[in-house]
Amino acid sequence: MTYPNPFREAAIDLGAVSENVRTLRTLTGVQVIGVVKADGYGHGAAAVATAALAGGATRLGTATIEESLALRRAGITAPLLAWLHEPGRRFDDAVEAGIEVGVSSWEQLIAASEAAPASMPAAPAPVHLKVDTGLSRNGVADADLDRVLAEAARLERIGRIRVVGIFSHLSGTGVEEDLAQLARYTEVIAKAESFGIRPEIRHLAATAAAISLPEARLDAVRIGLGLYGLSPFPGRSSADLGLRPAMTLRASVAAVRRVPAGSGVSYDYAYRCERETTLALVPLGYADGVPRQASGRGPVLVAGRPHTVAGRVAMDQFVVDVGDEQVAVGDEVVLFGDPTRGHPAATEWADAAGTINYEIVTRIGARVPRRTVS
Ligand SMILES: *Cc1c(COP(=O)(O)O)cnc(C)c1O
Repeated sequence: MTYPNPFREAAIDLGAVSENVRTLRTLTGVQVIGVVKADGYGHGAAAVATAALAGGATRLGTATIEESLALRRAGITAPLLAWLHEPGRRFDDAVEAGIEVGVSSWEQLIAASEAAPASMPAAPAPVHLKVDTGLSRNGVADADLDRVLAEAARLERIGRIRVVGIFSHLSGTGVEEDLAQLARYTEVIAKAESFGIRPEIRHLAATAAAISLPEARLDAVRIGLGLYGLSPFPGRSSADLGLRPAMTLRASVAAVRRVPAGSGVSYDYAYRCERETTLALVPLGYADGVPRQASGRGPVLVAGRPHTVAGRVAMDQFVVDVGDEQVAVGDEVVLFGDPTRGHPAATEWADAAGTINYEIVTRIGARVPRRTVS
């Protein structure tokens, strides 16, 4: 006997990724930097990177240099930017690989200027100065700004670095807070120019501000969540934004049983069947990124009909009470995907688990094969 559906998989629609980039490029009218950190938010970094470039992204961003180096090894030749570094890290390998280095401190600026890759020891290191405009995370702090800008200008004049960009990141707290960060960012740009620094690209907005705060679009927007077709706004769906979710998390029913009224289901018997019913076993659990917090709440489509997780999500599996519906081993289960095709949204799982859709897709585990579809 053969079964048509995958045991478990995350189907990744690369056409959707390309289309989402096109949509956001048209909307914003500026360059798109595709953010593919954390294995492309769980979608597979190299595949997503290729699709984003096909859709018109001009540059890719990762958190770490290791992530960017992996893209180079996968054959990606586009400009890359990486912005979160291990203390004391040297940047020879990054410069050698043509990776632009996000610089958040005096120490990182000096390290970038000292990069001397074997093949081109005198080449200036391409950097994007990252400034803290209010998020209080990384980025050059206010107190260090003057001396960092002065030194960056000097290092650029003597050919040790090239300031490709100046960037910052918004908190997304609200329009007022984001505009205050934009105002601070504008002051920083003016100050940098007074030191003689003229960055090619000024970039501030991630997906949310790229869509909702036109003033913040500047020369480029850094698009992460939007690449994957998800909405950063509570109450606004992907479709409302003209985006298409790229990931569909599917499985097939691994077992079916008929149980009498009163049967307990899964750990702690957190769910009890009110009447005789049919239970379907889904072979995905918290090891695969299905949040245990969504026990008893997560939405799931079984053989095309909507249901809810019954009881606890376990490490490898959970159970769905399908009542008197005809469900068989091998039938398709969809946890989330594209709501316009009747699937639950990743956002519904986020709501069920008390988190955000970013975390739902990014945490899909290594045991779930990614299958790219176009
Ligand atoms: C992750 C990240 C982004 C992408 O944010 P989205 O909200 O997913 O678009 C952009 N910029 C920086 C600095 C980031 O760390």
